[in-house]
Amino acid sequence: MTTVPVRLFPDPVLRQKSKRVRTIDGSIQKLIGDMIETMHTASGVGLAAPQVGVLLRVIIIGMPEEEVIVLINPQIVRRTGERLVTEGCLSIPDYVGQIKRAVSVKIKGLDQKGKEIRIKADELLAQALEHEIDHLNGVLYIDHLESLDSLRKIEPEEAQL
Ligand SMILES: [Zn+2]
Repeated sequence: MTTVPVRLFPDPVLRQKSKRVRTIDGSIQKLIGDMIETMHTASGVGLAAPQVGVLLRVIIIGMPEEEVIVLINPQIVRRTGERLVTEGCLSIPDYVGQIKRAVSVKIKGLDQKGKEIRIKADELLAQALEHEIDHLNGVLYIDHLESLDSLRKIEPEEAQL
């Protein structure tokens, strides 16, 4: 596993739509390994493949104290509710902003072995899943800001997605 530099806004790769993974082969396993290493090095709670320059639909979530979730070709099946959250992104360092996210989401996708999995999530996990799936569509959290005034410098203890 290798730590890969995280692509930073306004790198154009962050604005492209990622392609579906057709075969989960060795190159995908290597990509996932590199993403996990990179997320841990950056102390993030999630990472999407475009953030390491790869336009494939792969995301990982690493909630504090929990096993890393790997999702290939993830899709949001349902969004429920709406809440205001503070959000940051490893590709937009040092800033956070306030946006609206779902209260809970249902997601389906494939795990690292190609088995279909479904996740029902709320709170930070739901937020992280929406954030990382947005990356696969070239969307950044700053696109959801109601006002640029809500962007502010990050406090050291805040998590970045
Ligand atoms: Zn991000």
